[in-house]
Amino acid sequence: MTEQIAEERSTEDLGTCIMGGSTDQPCPRPAVARWRGGSPLCSEHYREAEVQEESDELRLSLDLLGAFKYEVCGHSLQVLEENLERLQVGFQERLSDTNGLLRMLSDQADRHKGS
Ligand SMILES: [Zn+2]
Repeated sequence: MTEQIAEERSTEDLGTCIMGGSTDQPCPRPAVARWRGGSPLCSEHYREAEVQEESDELRLSLDLLGAFKYEVCGHSLQVLEENLERLQVGFQERLSDTNGLLRMLSDQADRHKGS
């Protein structure tokens, strides 16, 4: 991902990061890459967007797993139920880690804002 950022930086002047652009505290950092080919973001907000996306994906996966588990229960498929349970626990742990990282990144971004 860092390579991708470096590559896009060399080909286009993206101006300033658009985060907070509609508020009275816009992000002052230079944009280094376009998020999914669209909005120009600084490296900090780009990283935050990546982690946010992972968090959303994990949450959706947990919802789908939960729904599937509900369908499975009552069919006496113990091995499948156990494996779904294991997947759920793994996803929950990863989601918890991801959300922790997201809070840390968000705090860092807030600290930079005032300076
Ligand atoms: Zn930014």
